[in-house]
Amino acid sequence: MIPEIFIQFDPSDKRDRKGCFFVLSGPSGVGKNTLVNLILQEMKGIYYVPSVTTRSMRPGESQMNPYVFVTKEEFEDMIARNQFLEWKKIHNNNYYGTHLPTILSAMENGFDIITDMDVLGCEDAIARIPEHVYTIFVLPPSLDELSHRLLERDSDQAAVALRLQRVPLELGHKDRYDFTMINDNLEQSVRELRSIIQGVVDHVE
Ligand code: 5GP
Repeated sequence: MIPEIFIQFDPSDKRDRKGCFFVLSGPSGVGKNTLVNLILQEMKGIYYVPSVTTRSMRPGESQMNPYVFVTKEEFEDMIARNQFLEWKKIHNNNYYGTHLPTILSAMENGFDIITDMDVLGCEDAIARIPEHVYTIFVLPPSLDELSHRLLERDSDQAAVALRLQRVPLELGHKDRYDFTMINDNLEQSVRELRSIIQGVVDHVE
């Protein structure tokens, strides 16, 4: 059963303004989920919105972490009911999409959110919600390091090859982002992402 809104917001995190919507992009395996998990532990009042996907769960993943895992039929039903801000078929025809009711509810009620999207989905999202959206692109230190990280987390060589094939498309869009950062040293990257988010939040308040 897919919930109507994915997140239960703590009313004490509500701001006196529209919620800021942070979109994180970057090639698969660059470390977006790790960064977001660490940021959420450090920063109060920002919520991760899990995307919906039809891809299978990897070891260590669970329902809502980092995705809402659904069947192809469930995803297509959600498309038909206009439940997505954007959606794309990525990596061997798996669907990935951003849950529109959760995003709208967060922003309208003054809660800051962060989510993950590929570069094409990000373009669609900005076209649909042009204001209060802040885009951040995460680069790997090198392509060798990216391959290494992908192989470390997934023993399926074909799945890794598919993700590597998409890297040039992803990197080709990086200049369209509000912020870019390199995820080399994790501690430093967390500090950098934190300062980007804090900078925006301080500026809009
Ligand atoms: P995976 O987790 O299967 O390795 O790769 C996920 C890919 O899909 C990444 O490029 C990630 O940025 C992208 N992605 C994750 N969630 C969404 C989403 O909601 N919408 C779109 N368009 N892409 C997503």
